[in-house]
Amino acid sequence: VELRQEDLRVIGELGQGNGGTVTKVMHIPTKTLMAKKVVLIDAKPAVRRQILRELQIMHGCNSKYIVSFHGAFVADPHICICMEYMDKGSLDGVYKRSGAIDIEIIGVIALAVLEGLTYLYDVHRIIHRDIKPSNMLCNSKGEIKICDFGVSGELINSIADTFVGTSTYMSPERIQGAQYSVKSDVWSLGISLIELALGRFPFAEDDGGDSDIDDFADLQDTLSPSNTREGLPPPRSRPKKDAAASKKDKRKSKGVSLQGGGMTMSILELLQHIVNEPAPRLTPAGAYPKEADEFIDACLFKDPERRPTPKELLKYDWIVKASKSNVDLEAWAATI
Ligand code: ATP
Ligand code: MG
Repeated sequence: VELRQEDLRVIGELGQGNGGTVTKVMHIPTKTLMAKKVVLIDAKPAVRRQILRELQIMHGCNSKYIVSFHGAFVADPHICICMEYMDKGSLDGVYKRSGAIDIEIIGVIALAVLEGLTYLYDVHRIIHRDIKPSNMLCNSKGEIKICDFGVSGELINSIADTFVGTSTYMSPERIQGAQYSVKSDVWSLGISLIELALGRFPFAEDDGGDSDIDDFADLQDTLSPSNTREGLPPPRSRPKKDAAASKKDKRKSKGVSLQGGGMTMSILELLQHIVNEPAPRLTPAGAYPKEADEFIDACLFKDPERRPTPKELLKYDWIVKASKSNVDLEAWAATI
């Protein structure tokens, strides 16, 4: 069926991101609930058409670990992408509503994400590029699926032109300007899983490390030339820890508080921290199964050469156990 704007009835808003807004809609002719993502694109008609063509690849992406695609159309100046509606929303919403997620459940989530990434890469040579809890969705059947992967090179370019995509889930090598690889997705997965286990973004805590950027030269050492591009926000020095200053410096990035323990990290301080400091781990040490620690540590090897691919990670003990476990995700989904 060809999707048309006039066949969609808006039911409610599901959320907002950097790229656009997602609404719950009913496709009237087929009585199908869908999630409609509206992306504002500043591009010429020919580029829009190209994006639309590239998005059609998603029709061929059929896996139970990938949010299915209903279709896309242009509604000037927007591009609308209609996908499967997942009634329990994204996993960031889940832990914000219901608290940190149990490590056994996280094992099954990790398995689903790895299956999804392996499918995308093995079958379509697609690298996700935006793995994070808000792109992991679940439904009341207890299914976990990933969404918002980079199918359209033109769409990636157009968004990059309108917005500086500094994601806090970015791997050290990406921050330093390396090309995306499946290994960058693995880093992002490791950060995301820690976030689900802790119930907060892992870098927010004051870990006592010094992440100050008092000197722009420091920053330029950290970021490669290709990343010190125009449009990046100016560097900020670490705020004074007096109450007034810290209040004034409270900031949120994409709903993730970068503040914790009386410390505020600017986005650039955070990027430098990721490059220079040891990778985060599940904390407190010893509180999790050793197989989970082993898995997360492998995802977060700072050297991408050492870091396993999604396919290799499927063979890790923690994941093999998760695949044999009898945790009931449907029962869990009823509680979130
Ligand atoms: P960013 O823009 O940084 O990628 P994001 O992933 O949160 O952040 P969107 O992709 O625009 O931004 O999604 C906004 C919100 O809409 C998500 O956080 C999620 O909760 C909700 N959402 C997205 N897709 C669906 C879907 N298919 N079903 C149900 N809810 C969805
Ligand atoms: Mg998203």
